[in-house]
Amino acid sequence: MKHKLMVVSGPSGVGKGTIVKTLIKRRSDVVESVSCTTRAPREGETHGKEYFFLTKAEFLERLEKQDFLEYDEHFGNYYGTPISFVEETLKTKSVILEIDVVGALNVKKRLPEAVLVMIVPPSIEELKRRLEGRETETAEQIQNRLSRLEYELSQKEKYDFVVVNDELERAISEVEGILDGSACKK
Ligand code: ADP
Ligand code: 5GP
Repeated sequence: MKHKLMVVSGPSGVGKGTIVKTLIKRRSDVVESVSCTTRAPREGETHGKEYFFLTKAEFLERLEKQDFLEYDEHFGNYYGTPISFVEETLKTKSVILEIDVVGALNVKKRLPEAVLVMIVPPSIEELKRRLEGRETETAEQIQNRLSRLEYELSQKEKYDFVVVNDELERAISEVEGILDGSACKK
């Protein structure tokens, strides 16, 4: 089977990280691309694992060298996908990118074979509960993230697949089915 480049997006707090991390733990033929960011690490995050944490100057230097498949700015920080890692890994494994809508559409423009998957919450109230329950952002940061919600959800038609993260195991199986090519495109 040909290895896939899968791009997973969705509002902050919807469960993207939980779904992707579980999938990667279960599958040795799938890896997650580690993005570069200029934001500060959250408690428990380590350099090279969740992100490569760069200074703004380092990020801009790599951007100049065309080291990113795509990049974008969120909440005042830069985020980018290192192209070399993606290209090299796709020779032997499938790669998942967990990036926002703008980044995902930019990837699709450059690599049309990429499969775009949007994870959506069962309801806005449930999304708020998950964001608050995660306890990693301030109330202001949560509000900031929720303000992007309408825009993000309005872009779902541009995605190849939309998965509702209602029950976690069900959502994981659905994403796995897409990865294995057994899910029907909408
Ligand atoms: P994202 O990566 O999209 O920002 P996370 O994976 O960090 O979101 O999930 C946000 C919170 O929601 C976490 O505390 C996670 O444990 C919880 N969560 C994820 N999926 C579900 C689900 N299906 N039902 C209930 N809680 C969930
Ligand atoms: P967080 O700070 O919560 O980890 O991520 C903030 C936002 O940045 C999320 O919407 C996430 O999907 C997005 N993001 C993470 N990595 C990348 C990347 O490499 N490129 C782009 N365009 N967005 C990213």
